[in-house]
Amino acid sequence: MDFAFTDEQKLLRETVRQLMDTHAPPEYIRRLDREQAYPYELYEKWVEAGLLSMPFPEEYDGLGGSVIDLTIIAEELARKSPDFFMSYAGSVFTGLNIMRKGTEEQKQHWLPKLFAGEVRMAIAISEPEAGSDIGAMRTYAVRDGDHYVVNGQKLWATGAGAKDTVMNVYLKTDREKNYREGMSLLLIDNDTPGVQLRKLDMLGRRCTGTYEVFFNDVRVPADRVVGGENKGWDCVLAGLQIERVCSAAGSCGGALAAFDLALNYAKERVQFGRPIGTNQSIAHTLADLQTEIDAARTLMWRAAWMVSEGQDALREITMAKLFASEVYVKVANAGMQIFGGYGYSMEYDMQRHFRDSRSSTIAAGTSEMQRNVLAGLMGLKIR
Ligand SMILES: Cc1cc2nc3c(=O)[nH]c(=O)nc-3n(C[C@H](O)[C@H](O)[C@H](O)COP(=O)(O)OP(=O)(O)OC[C@H]3O[C@@H](n4cnc5c(N)ncnc54)[C@H](O)[C@@H]3O)c2cc1C
Repeated sequence: MDFAFTDEQKLLRETVRQLMDTHAPPEYIRRLDREQAYPYELYEKWVEAGLLSMPFPEEYDGLGGSVIDLTIIAEELARKSPDFFMSYAGSVFTGLNIMRKGTEEQKQHWLPKLFAGEVRMAIAISEPEAGSDIGAMRTYAVRDGDHYVVNGQKLWATGAGAKDTVMNVYLKTDREKNYREGMSLLLIDNDTPGVQLRKLDMLGRRCTGTYEVFFNDVRVPADRVVGGENKGWDCVLAGLQIERVCSAAGSCGGALAAFDLALNYAKERVQFGRPIGTNQSIAHTLADLQTEIDAARTLMWRAAWMVSEGQDALREITMAKLFASEVYVKVANAGMQIFGGYGYSMEYDMQRHFRDSRSSTIAAGTSEMQRNVLAGLMGLKIR
């Protein structure tokens, strides 16, 4: 099995790394986190560098990149900030859904705007009563002539409040049927009359932001339905693989960043006349963390490779998402211990990883739900 990157992939990684080094220095990341501000300037740089169009086919003016290219970008963006990576991910995941499930007209309309940074996109599935259990969804749309009228409430929608954002809202269009047969995907501008947004006060990922969204008789043109009426579940399934493998890549990037901080600190911090990293307890902790990060990355690259080969990789993707997210939490937690009091201080970066990492085992499907999927694939019926 060949895990080597091609020359183009090495160049892509180097280019994204340089872009992030130049435009997302530590002071920028700290300031935006403190101000809970969206990284608009950085997003523009991603647009200019073609990162938004990278995983789309050339016939739609994309750069024709593969899933592996996308995970390279994900890891490099998250290596600076897993929070910033979510600004990128929201647009790309939803854009790919339009690519896969949209009509020709929708692709011609939305993809150029997405690539040019004229619109951003966010995903809104979760609701107050519907988290892991999508079936409990209540937000609904009723057809009225050439429009839908939407009522309900979404929760935890990442990036939904950024300017020029089109929310990809999953809602019921047939309330008599279950979500597999009665749910649709509607594209709704976040400034449509009747839409109300509230930025939530979250522990981490405070720049891209997490939003509560209310829909009160929101009128949406009927041509904003993607994949056909009542075909929303197909859209969820179609996007799940890439979303989860990129989520794993984001966790790997965050874990690498937190690890580098901890390793450097262990070499530099002197107590009792010697670097703290010369204590076996700290050295072994770092050795174990490095091993686990490598294991997570190996799972992630294998899953990405299988997806890019068109193989069914549900098991491998699920393991990668589960393991990588838990490794990021573990590295940030251990990193804080290695930093001692400085780790707990808001003036050092480890606390940001401690906060940002914590969402990775919850968002895009909790660790428990990943374990349920794996157990199901092993033939175990979980109740
Ligand atoms: C930072 C952040 C960003 C997010 N971004 C988005 C977004 O952009 N769009 C979006 O739609 N959603 C988003 N979410 C929502 C996320 O997908 C949900 O939080 C997640 O699916 C869990 O739902 P819940 O919070 O309602 O928890 P619940 O489903 O109520 O679960 C609570 C606990 O019970 C466990 N549990 C529930 N059911 C089972 C079961 N059957 N077996 C075992 N354990 C179970 C869960 O694992 C969890 O530990 C985001 C969440 C966070 C924290």
